[in-house]
Amino acid sequence: MAPSAITAATTPPHGIKTAALTASAVYHQIEAQSGLRPLDASKLIFTPTTTPMSVPAKGDAEAYISSQCSDHMITAVWKRETGWESPELKPYGNLSLAPTASVLHYATECFEGMKVYRGYDKKLRLFRPEANCARMLISATRIALPAFEPSELEKLILALLEVDGVKWLPKTGDFLYLRPTMIGSAPGLGVATPREATLFVIMTFMPSLNKEGGLRLLASQNGVRAWPGGFGFAKVGANYGPSLMATGEARARGYDQVLWLLNGQVTEAGASNFFIVWKTKAGNMQLVTAPLGNKIILDGITRRSIIQLAKERLSDELELVERDFTMDDIVEAVNEGRIVEAFAAGTAYFVAPISAINYNDQDLDMPMYEGDSGKYTAILKTWLMNIMYGKENHPWGVVVKEKQ
Ligand SMILES: *Cc1c(COP(=O)(O)O)cnc(C)c1O
Repeated sequence: MAPSAITAATTPPHGIKTAALTASAVYHQIEAQSGLRPLDASKLIFTPTTTPMSVPAKGDAEAYISSQCSDHMITAVWKRETGWESPELKPYGNLSLAPTASVLHYATECFEGMKVYRGYDKKLRLFRPEANCARMLISATRIALPAFEPSELEKLILALLEVDGVKWLPKTGDFLYLRPTMIGSAPGLGVATPREATLFVIMTFMPSLNKEGGLRLLASQNGVRAWPGGFGFAKVGANYGPSLMATGEARARGYDQVLWLLNGQVTEAGASNFFIVWKTKAGNMQLVTAPLGNKIILDGITRRSIIQLAKERLSDELELVERDFTMDDIVEAVNEGRIVEAFAAGTAYFVAPISAINYNDQDLDMPMYEGDSGKYTAILKTWLMNIMYGKENHPWGVVVKEKQ
């Protein structure tokens, strides 16, 4: 990529709906870097591992607990004076950081979570990777980490898959989890925008989080995840650490995830977006989810895909509505028998049926008319799986070239 290429990309990334504030912040972050070296995947330096690891057996609990990674990782360092250094594809290993590094004190960290799937046709696919890479730029900008051209990050992810895909993900129907991450890595305790950043991409195992009997959610009564003017829309580590206490409490009480409320409004569930299907008082069938406009929730790629599929393929029977709604709206619909089903949607939990929501110490039952799922939950999940695993040819399924 020519040094001018990043200035050519100064229009805010498309495909992501964000309020103007973020779009202009992204724009300025990119502008600030014109003249510096851009992130350039064509400069990738490949150092193959000399000590290949053995692939753990499927279902190996330890590999899941410790997030065992594949043989290689991507790293790239950015410096304020010069820009991005040549990215590297190198043996997986520990990072070296000063104890004074910005990330360790001020949570200058953002990340992405995406899966790579081994299809029915033996091909390897990512699901809408360009959307993850564009969102990573928005998250990085929110915490003053440097800009990059999202398509260059996508190329780096593909480069990692090209070397590790065949060995680490051989079997049809399986997936691995990719974690692109950026941290403020310069030493210095001054509370200031990072002078140096490190981007890395690792690939690891993640269990299938499907839970028999559906997810049970505990509505948050005395804690919030995000607030207006905050950073709930960004995938930054600072959103997660402080949520773990509530999640632990929910688990101790027999629930799987917290359903985060803000002034009674339903926002999202754990690290998934929340959807509910209900009949309106007038009898219309609606698929409802919280809107992005107030920047409280994460703009999930699964969420976006479900919205688009529902609009394209279910509009005859189901009206898709992005709106604010409250637990009281849900309670009323439960009492009037208008709830059809509810589900959570995100890369980690995928499309997960919800069987109950606890609110004010009462379990509200969410129907699962197909036994283990609601009808629309099952339909949408199957459509997405067909795209991810190549049963349906669709532009969202991006095939990865592999070295054979
Ligand atoms: C990652 C995440 C989601 C889901 O986003 P996907 O792009 O669908 O994986 C939803 N909510 C939060 C808080 C998240 O961190």
